[in-house]
Amino acid sequence: MKINIIGGGPAGLYFAILMKKADPSHQVNVYERNGPDDTFGWGVVFSGKTLANLRAADEESHAAITKEFEAWDNVDIVLRASKVSIHGNSFSGIARLQLLNILQWRAEELGVNISFRTEISDIETLRNNCDLLVAADGVNSGVRSRYADQLKPNLDVRSNRYIWYGTNQLFHGLTLTFRENEAGVFAAHSYKFNTTTSTFIVECDPQTWDRAGLSTKSDEETRSYIANVFKEDLGEYPLLTNNSKWLNFVLVKNANWFFKNLVLLGDALHTAHFSIGSGTKLAMEDAIALAECFKRATDITQALSDFAALRRPIIEDYQAAAFESMVWFENAADHMHLSTIELAFSAMTRSGRVSYDDLRKRSPEFIQQYESRKS
Ligand SMILES: Cc1cc2nc3c(=O)[nH]c(=O)nc-3n(C[C@H](O)[C@H](O)[C@H](O)COP(=O)(O)OP(=O)(O)OC[C@H]3O[C@@H](n4cnc5c(N)ncnc54)[C@H](O)[C@@H]3O)c2cc1C
Repeated sequence: MKINIIGGGPAGLYFAILMKKADPSHQVNVYERNGPDDTFGWGVVFSGKTLANLRAADEESHAAITKEFEAWDNVDIVLRASKVSIHGNSFSGIARLQLLNILQWRAEELGVNISFRTEISDIETLRNNCDLLVAADGVNSGVRSRYADQLKPNLDVRSNRYIWYGTNQLFHGLTLTFRENEAGVFAAHSYKFNTTTSTFIVECDPQTWDRAGLSTKSDEETRSYIANVFKEDLGEYPLLTNNSKWLNFVLVKNANWFFKNLVLLGDALHTAHFSIGSGTKLAMEDAIALAECFKRATDITQALSDFAALRRPIIEDYQAAAFESMVWFENAADHMHLSTIELAFSAMTRSGRVSYDDLRKRSPEFIQQYESRKS
């Protein structure tokens, strides 16, 4: 089979690996507009369960990924002068660039052709020139726009603003920090992903963003403003930028997941708010699911129909949980009257996927602290 893949992110590269591994006679081409070492962003997070899925799918890349990991089991909630830790969660972080370099190495080792610095604009020619065209071209997918009439995408641009920084301040655990100033409430999502660097994503509602005058501030003024908001948390360390810009989260859904021999994968197909930390996980698990469908199906249409039928309920479930989490952060200002322990409980249960009983099992000392707040 000849497979063309647009996009050398986690979804495209991992699908290329799994298909070439399943059958070395497949001709697999990945087209990526960037170079192998250009990337946006800092680190990504995986849960223990995702790692088990990655191990079952490809031991070689799993071994390379986990060798580079920074692991932790705590979520920390910081409000005003206090911090509450909730243990018993299994997470690991890795630099996005390192993850991509590992996947590039593994794909090339298996014989995948990766064309870097190759922007695909003539999608129809590429589609006609292969058995399967995979659109793994990310949240702003050009393929999804080109075939919008067939795929029927739904794009919901959310109101909160966020910006993705890094810092050499090490946050040992997934740390959610809430800081208030005269403009409003700012929330930071931070975690270390190697021995020297942490991801530091900041979000705020549009009213706060306007009152802070962030629409007219330069990149440098923005960085210094945000560093000042989080000065107690960043200590002596500056915020690091990677051409960091304010963005609005876009919730992506598609009524149709494929059209003829073309299928969407990863962020092009669906997004889940970053507060639930699952975009890369979902992208790679999409690749596993699609590759599995190809192992069982007798033709392409069958494989793509099976993929949509099997994967859609799982994605809808994730998107529902991520939606609750996103809305909780959009309304962060409403929670600021809570004590830190109450805020921590509210934050931990925000997506509806973690219950009181789950928390009692995972982190009994946290629940004890939560219960004793009344006395
Ligand atoms: C602030 C923020 C924080 C996040 N935190 C996490 C986290 O903690 N954990 C997590 O798992 N995920 C996280 N994510 C999500 C994660 O970054 C994405 O979900 C993931 O990268 C999706 O993988 P993908 O392969 O579908 O798309 P992408 O990684 O976006 O890859 C798409 C690729 O396609 C290429 N491309 C696009 N168009 C073309 C074209 N026409 N020709 C050639 N190449 C093209 C692009 O250059 C890009 O390399 C976060 C996202 C954001 C915005």
